[in-house]
Amino acid sequence: MMTAMTTDPDCVFCSIVAGEVPAEVVHSSDHSLAFRDLDPQAPTHVLVIPRRHVADIGALTAAAPDEAVALLAAVQVVAELDGMGNAYRLVFNTGAAAGQSVPHAHAHVLAGRDLGWPPG
Ligand code: AMP
Repeated sequence: MMTAMTTDPDCVFCSIVAGEVPAEVVHSSDHSLAFRDLDPQAPTHVLVIPRRHVADIGALTAAAPDEAVALLAAVQVVAELDGMGNAYRLVFNTGAAAGQSVPHAHAHVLAGRDLGWPPG
């Protein structure tokens, strides 16, 4: 599905996509950007975001399912680049009650330590 790319001037992740806010970018593709989290919760903590501004992964899947698939492909590239192999945790906090603080869809890719279950 093709829809116009959207951006929000008040969104910090859109500002990173635009190059207006610095970030340690580890991977970039037509539809996604991956950069290190400012406040890492594991030795490796990378955020993978769609370039399009959408509130969460559900909204991305509804608006542009191909871009949701591209996001997952980017996660796997990041995991391989960062030497995580197949041992990483992928988290989409969705909604404030689930801990989402930035309303631009993003995947947390966490690795490099034992990750307990259930998550906090
Ligand atoms: P969440 O709480 O799931 O919405 O995750 C948002 C994440 O974005 C948090 O882990 C923050 O540390 C991270 N974050 C916020 N601003 C920045 C930024 N400018 N650069 C990198 N990571 C950021």
